[in-house]
Amino acid sequence: MKVLELVDIWYEVEGKTILREINARFEEKKVYSILGTNGAGKSTLAYLIMGLEGYRPTRGKILLDGEDITNLSVTERARRGITLMWQEPARFTGIKIRDYLTLGGKRKVSEDELERVLETVGLNPLLYLERNVDEKLSGGERKRVELASILLMKPRYTILDEPDSGIDIMSLEMIERVLSELVSAGGSVILVTHREEIALESDYAFLICHGTILKEGDPSTIVQFYKNSCDKCDHPNEPQE
Ligand code: ADP
Ligand code: MG
Ligand code: MG
Repeated sequence: MKVLELVDIWYEVEGKTILREINARFEEKKVYSILGTNGAGKSTLAYLIMGLEGYRPTRGKILLDGEDITNLSVTERARRGITLMWQEPARFTGIKIRDYLTLGGKRKVSEDELERVLETVGLNPLLYLERNVDEKLSGGERKRVELASILLMKPRYTILDEPDSGIDIMSLEMIERVLSELVSAGGSVILVTHREEIALESDYAFLICHGTILKEGDPSTIVQFYKNSCDKCDHPNEPQE
């Protein structure tokens, strides 16, 4: 079966346990959310799934279609179709948005598709396609460009870390469009968020608190539980975003 699995994942850094006993299954063509307050461990979990440098579980396994990918590099995981959109957008500079999206011509993509993905992320192709990527682009605009690039990539698993953070005018509608495009291209999405409205866009939700999964299931049930029990859940030393 095609599935990404986290099996009893633990993560410690500097003697501090950040994640413990994480078990999760992510199937094909589904949207999952990982919901939790600030400091719960969501980004750390996202980095572990992506396999960023320094992010290897202290214990446990990550399996993709049964293959153990726990110790694979980011590049090797990317090759298998896993991608991550950071909470902070990348600071790519010096090229046109068109070239960024087509990988300088290496990614074969029609003009129509280029325009369509920009529209999906709320950027007018007439204004943006030939625009240079530079400091004049806001964080929100950069994040949208990054999302457009992911749409062209059609990954098997897209991890979106706080997809609405940094986007000037938060639009749930835009996130809905992005999710449905990724799923109709055959992919699955892991939405990392502290916002109930975003979690409600998923098919299945995991509630993470103090580094562990407290509850999982139907998003509306999970959101209700989050509202009642986790709102006041405090994670020391974490500034609110
Ligand atoms: P979230 O994304 O849910 O806001 P994070 O995964 O960023 O949470 O962080 C979870 C907890 O782990 C926080 O208390 C954070 O301070 C701590 N943490 C994260 N990375 C490190 C690190 N490299 N060293 C020490 N503590 C860390
Ligand atoms: Mg945080
Ligand atoms: Mg985070």
